[in-house]
Amino acid sequence: MSSAADTLTETPLGGPTLPQERRLVTSIPGPRSQELLARKADAVAAGVGHTAPVQAVAAGGGVIVDADGNSLIDLGSGIAVTTIGNAHPKVVAAVQAQVAQFTHTCFMIAPYDSYVSVAEALNRITPGDHAKKSALFNSGAEAVENAVKIARKYTGKQAVVAFDHGYHGRTNLTMALTAKSMPYKSGFGPFASEIYRAPLSYPYRDGLDGGLAAKKAISMIEKQVGADNLAAIIIEPIQGEGGFIVPADGFLPALVEWCRANDVVFIADEIQTGFARTGEMFASDLFGIVPDLITTAKGIAGGLPLAAVTGRADIMDASHAGGLGGTYGGNPIACAAALAAIDVFENDGMLERAREIETVLKGRLQDLRATDPRVGDVRGHGAMIAAEFVDPATGEPDAALTAAVAKASIAQGVIVLTCGTYGNVIRFLPPLSITDDLLHEGMDVVAAALAAA
Ligand SMILES: *Cc1c(COP(=O)(O)O)cnc(C)c1O
Repeated sequence: MSSAADTLTETPLGGPTLPQERRLVTSIPGPRSQELLARKADAVAAGVGHTAPVQAVAAGGGVIVDADGNSLIDLGSGIAVTTIGNAHPKVVAAVQAQVAQFTHTCFMIAPYDSYVSVAEALNRITPGDHAKKSALFNSGAEAVENAVKIARKYTGKQAVVAFDHGYHGRTNLTMALTAKSMPYKSGFGPFASEIYRAPLSYPYRDGLDGGLAAKKAISMIEKQVGADNLAAIIIEPIQGEGGFIVPADGFLPALVEWCRANDVVFIADEIQTGFARTGEMFASDLFGIVPDLITTAKGIAGGLPLAAVTGRADIMDASHAGGLGGTYGGNPIACAAALAAIDVFENDGMLERAREIETVLKGRLQDLRATDPRVGDVRGHGAMIAAEFVDPATGEPDAALTAAVAKASIAQGVIVLTCGTYGNVIRFLPPLSITDDLLHEGMDVVAAALAAA
């Protein structure tokens, strides 16, 4: 049988010289990693945390190698960024060629081809056949900030609705849009005004079908904000930090329909879900919705910092010349990397690979759930899969168990990330370049950590 996985096993994308194995030669952290972490504690602000106590020195395929010679299985992709694999050869070549040519002109001073080509590619691959335009930025939060600017300018209205459990970034406006106080907002206020929060569809916990959940959200919006005041609603089609919450069928289409009828811009924040992560190029495609605006970042450029707002040309063009931009936005090296990454997403079987990974991960987690009632829910799409851990007696979230399983997995050389409003979700975001063998071995380690917890 020849599948995308087989191809990837033969030539692990990114880092073909790195053995694709879990290898522990010291305890985690080893002495060199400990040394760096001590320097970090002295030199780096305490607010900048870390998940795995290692000093990374190389990464590719499905592994991260540390300074002590340990090789860890990567089930996090640096938070859904290295989707095509770390140091992917096509990205490396594109970056090397561009960095030798020119490193920066500022697109607002002297434009260049790669920025326009990235915009053309995004306009083509994002959902919907309508006329689209794009603008490029540096980070996800910056893209969200600009999507809100653009929607306000277009509608002449100010209010923005975000959702329970939503995550949109760490800048002032995006903190306001983000739901969870600790650690993202606590003590960092005051926050931007004219932000309102609506209830989300969370099938595992609200038991509502998509239509009813949408009705509840729309009723809140109409009563507490009013369509006359509302510029935009912003929502992650599948929530990331909030716990990989997949809304019930019908929820998102009902919101889109309400926005269309009320001159409200529908913004899909696909910063985590975009670029093949869910087994479709964008999660909006899973739900059959066409957003007015879409924000992207994370997986867009194979690890280089780049972000974008893409959407309806009439909305994107409503801002006056000079109103959008930034010194570094659409940096030529990041754009060269994005063009290489988008080529891989479109032509190297990435959607198929994400769906294969879904089958493996969901299969393994469903097996666990069948025998261990502490696994309350298994959900997600593609290579974006999560398990929610609960107290079987009460159904209450079990954050302590979740943290223990994650910590023990990392100590055994498997990098996993937690998430969720209640801190009780482990999320699996492997690079699509991981082999099935490593994926299974990673899940063996997680299962053993759960059994021991
Ligand atoms: C990560 C993320 C952001 C913020 O992106 P940064 O690049 O960290 O600023 C915004 N929205 C979603 C859905 C994200 O996952």
